[in-house]
Amino acid sequence: MPFDDKLRTKVLLWADRHCCYCKKPCGVNIEVHHIVPESSEGSNDVENALPLCFDCHSEVQRYNDDHPRGTKFKPDELRARREQVFEEFTRHLVPPIHYQVTQALPGGGSRTFPDVGFVLAHLGDSMPVKVRIVVHTVRADSRGTTLDGYYGGSKLWRLKPRFTVFGHFTMPDEKRLPSDPIQLWIDVSIIDQYDRSHNLLPVEYVYVPDKNSWYLEP
Ligand SMILES: [Zn+2]
Repeated sequence: MPFDDKLRTKVLLWADRHCCYCKKPCGVNIEVHHIVPESSEGSNDVENALPLCFDCHSEVQRYNDDHPRGTKFKPDELRARREQVFEEFTRHLVPPIHYQVTQALPGGGSRTFPDVGFVLAHLGDSMPVKVRIVVHTVRADSRGTTLDGYYGGSKLWRLKPRFTVFGHFTMPDEKRLPSDPIQLWIDVSIIDQYDRSHNLLPVEYVYVPDKNSWYLEP
């Protein structure tokens, strides 16, 4: 079974119709290759799809395990190379995004813990994006509870350019020792107009009860 049209359109947009190995602009002379062949149970999903020019396509398939010469293309290498190319042609779709955990209310004053504020802002001028936020509590060096909805990644935030959202959630009630710090781990990914997800570095926030405020753990 070939990849479906929707998926092909997506990966061709992400690569801007450049070969994901040699990076040549291909026009119509491009094919979507299965990184792991279907005969080896390779899937028909995006993880396994690799846009290639005709030359690279035959090159990738040419290696003969029975008569090894040169160095075989490894699936992990092909995927990493593809991500470099996708990144190069979709980076411009990702605006600067600001996000922060805060007890400050937008109109002045502060929230009462366990009510926690969350600010998310699109600081660019150009494209709207969707943002996936996943908040976990952290306990004794492990992930605790994952929040749900807009804070658990199951609902996406829609951000227009120059748009700021002031959200809030309730800190989950967990059994913890009084000496345990109250910590949040936050994963943020930005989903561009062509539906590609760009993951930012996760960040950690620690609550300071005396000051009713949060600091960012570097
Ligand atoms: Zn090529």
